[in-house]
Amino acid sequence: MKKEMIDTTKNGIKYFYYPPWEKNMQVGLGFSSRCGGVSEDPYDELNLGYKWGDKHAAVAENRRRFLALWDKEEQDLVCGEQVHGTKITLVREKKAGALIPATDGLITTEPDIVLGAFSADCLLIYLWDPDARAIGLVHAGWRGTLGGILYYAVEAMQQRLGACPGRIQALFAPCIGSCCYEIGRDVMALAAGSYWGDKAVFYPSRKKGHAFLDLQKTNQNILVSAGMQPGNIGAGSLCTHCNPRLFYSYRRAAGQATGSHMGIIFLSER
Ligand SMILES: [Zn+2]
Repeated sequence: MKKEMIDTTKNGIKYFYYPPWEKNMQVGLGFSSRCGGVSEDPYDELNLGYKWGDKHAAVAENRRRFLALWDKEEQDLVCGEQVHGTKITLVREKKAGALIPATDGLITTEPDIVLGAFSADCLLIYLWDPDARAIGLVHAGWRGTLGGILYYAVEAMQQRLGACPGRIQALFAPCIGSCCYEIGRDVMALAAGSYWGDKAVFYPSRKKGHAFLDLQKTNQNILVSAGMQPGNIGAGSLCTHCNPRLFYSYRRAAGQATGSHMGIIFLSER
């Protein structure tokens, strides 16, 4: 079976999940599409991010509907500020409305804390070690990717939560594909100067000084360098930029307002 999140529709909301992780009821996870909420153009419909100027009440209602699919509420949610950095934070307790500063990766072993992250092209990565009962959720655009954030996430799960890299499983949410992710000299220069640069997967572009970056393959390489098994990594095949009916895309919006997807993961109380 292909290891990839699949879509389903519940209570009018289309979202992505992964049945093999949920079947033993140890962990719940989801990634929203844009379909099924109350936001209006250009945030239509299921915008789950407050920062783009959508009506607060609409986002709150969308979050309520999305989290209710797992019987969760906004006060269960802990999110990072997401600054395209590489910091991983260990979450030990629920703080209603918490937005942990300067953090793009969250890890925990606490049941019923819902780790949340947002994206509109960037890659969200779900991590789980079933034996250590440890989970993680990481946000990675090109900057975090080339900074090695996934290496640090696996390392933090190992050192702080007793996880074993060889046992950790990873899932990638839909993100911008290499078909659409053309980058320029700034990203190429960062890759060339980065310790993780040799893990980066680029494809040639006809535009001088440009290339297409494969976020998923690059992050797969970094996970393997952190000790993970390639067979434990489930990448996706849907491009957020290519599918405007299903997904928001920051790049497609080209500087105009758009919405955000949310990814969540939590451990169930045993
Ligand atoms: Zn594409």
